[in-house]
Amino acid sequence: MIQRTLEEIAAMAGGKLQNASYGGLSVSGVSKDTRTLAPGNLYIPLIGDAFDGHLFAETAFERGAVASLWQQDRLSPPQGRPLILVDDCLEALQRLAVAYREQLPARIVGITGSNGKTTTKDLTASVLSTAFRVHKTGGNYNNHIGLPLTLLELEEDTEIVVLEMGMSGRGEIELLSRLAEPEIAIITNIGDAHLLQLGSRMEIARAKTEILAGLQPGGTLVYNGDESLMETALAELEQSGVRTPGDYGRVRFGPSEGNDLFPSGISMDRKGSHFTLGESGEQEFYIPLLGAHNVANALAACAVGRYFGLDDASIARGLAEVKVTGMRIEVLQAPDGLTVWNDAYNASPTAMRAALTLLHEAEGFGRKFACLGDMLELGPDEAELHREIGRFLDPAQVTGVFAFGPLSKHLTDGAGERFPDGAVRHFQDKEELATALRAVAGPQDVVLIKGSRGMRMEQVAAFVMQLG
Ligand code: ATP
Ligand code: MG
Repeated sequence: MIQRTLEEIAAMAGGKLQNASYGGLSVSGVSKDTRTLAPGNLYIPLIGDAFDGHLFAETAFERGAVASLWQQDRLSPPQGRPLILVDDCLEALQRLAVAYREQLPARIVGITGSNGKTTTKDLTASVLSTAFRVHKTGGNYNNHIGLPLTLLELEEDTEIVVLEMGMSGRGEIELLSRLAEPEIAIITNIGDAHLLQLGSRMEIARAKTEILAGLQPGGTLVYNGDESLMETALAELEQSGVRTPGDYGRVRFGPSEGNDLFPSGISMDRKGSHFTLGESGEQEFYIPLLGAHNVANALAACAVGRYFGLDDASIARGLAEVKVTGMRIEVLQAPDGLTVWNDAYNASPTAMRAALTLLHEAEGFGRKFACLGDMLELGPDEAELHREIGRFLDPAQVTGVFAFGPLSKHLTDGAGERFPDGAVRHFQDKEELATALRAVAGPQDVVLIKGSRGMRMEQVAAFVMQLG
C-alpha cells in the first residue's frame, strides 16, 4: 500500500499542507471509512448523498489516522491535526492514485463488460499469480472511488494489477480507464444490464468501448468476438478519431471458431467445467465454475495469460486454483442431497439466459427446477423482457418454474404458454415458494436460484437448504 510523507502526498494529490511542519510525517495506506481505518492511514473524507466524511475526521484521528485530506469549503476543520487542504476530496483521491500508479512499475489489466467482470477478474488474477506478484480489485470495488482506492493498495513490487471497471451510465468507464491507463483491456460481453439508464444495447456497447480511451498506445483489447455490436462500436471510435486503426492490438474470444480463442470439447461435472482451446485442444483446462458463460470468462483470462508469456500448463493451473466470489452459481447441497445452484448475486436477461442454458444442458440430475426473481433496471420493455425469459424456459428440460416478485408475473405468463398446467407458479412470499418447491424437489434434483440483487433470492436458497 502507499507509503509516502505528507509533503509527497500533498504534491501528488494536488493539495497543500495546512501546516508545513508536518511535511515529514509518513502515512501508510489510506481509508475513507473510520470503521475500517487502520492506524497510520491517511483519512480521505468523501462527501456522499447521506453523509459527509468530514464530520468523522476527528474520529479518524482518534482511531490512529496520521493525517486527513480536508476540502477547503468545509467548515470546522479539526484543530492541531495534520491536514492536507484540497479543492475536492474525490478528485484529490483520484489524482493521488494516478500519481502513485505512475511511480510504480506495475502493469495494468482493466476489465469491463455487462456481465462476468468479477469472475473474469478472479480468473485472470489467478492465472497471472502462477508467475507474477499480482494485486486485484477486492470484491466489487469497481467504481470511481473503489478503483483509485485499489490502486493505492499496490505494493512497490506489485508486477501486475487486475482492475474491475463497472458503470451505470456513459462516461464512467472512460474516467476509470483514464485513471488506470491499462496495457490490456478486456470487454467480457455486451449484455442488457443498465438498459434503463442507457436505453439500447448499442449505447451499452459504446459505454463499454470507452475503455479504449485510456488504453495505452500499443496496448491490447481482448473482447467477445461473437458480439456484432462490438465491431460497430469499435468502428465508430475509429471514425471519430478516438483511436487510430492499428494503434492497439485486438484479441477476440468467444464460442465461435472464428475467434482467436474459442473452446472445444466443453464438458461439465457437478462442480465445474472442462474445456480445451482451439483446434489443437492439447491442454485440458478446468474451472471450478459451471456454465458455458464461465468458460467464456476463462477464455479472456487465457488470452491475458498468453499475452504475459505464460504457457498453457501454467494457465491451466491458475484457472483450476481460482477462488471465486460467492453467489455466482455457488453449488450447494441440501442435507437430503438436493443440489442448489445459488446464482442469486444478480440477473439481467443475458445472465438469466446463460444460467438457464446451463440448467437446460445439465445432465445426471433427476428433475430440474428454476426459482426466478425479478430482473430490475430494464426500462420500458421490462414486462416483455420478462415474458421472453418465460418463453425461453424449455419444458422438455425444466419440470417446474417458481417465480417471485411483481415483474416475474410476466415471466410466468411467458412460460405458461409452453408449460403444462401447474408447472409454473408465482409466489408473493419467499418462504412459501421454498416450501412449495420442497414439496416436489428431492435428493436427485437440481434447482437454479436467480434474480436481481434487489430481490435477495439467496433468502430462497437459505429456506430451501433449511427445509431439506
Ligand atoms: P457487477 O456488474 O455486479 O459487478 P459482474 O460483471 O462483475 O457484475 P460477475 O459478478 O462475474 O459479473 O457475475 C454476475 C452474474 O453474471 C453471474 O451470476 C452470471 O449470472 C452472469 N455472468 C457471468 N459471466 C457471464 C457471461 N460471460 N455472460 C453472461 N452472463 C454472465
Ligand atoms: Mg462485479
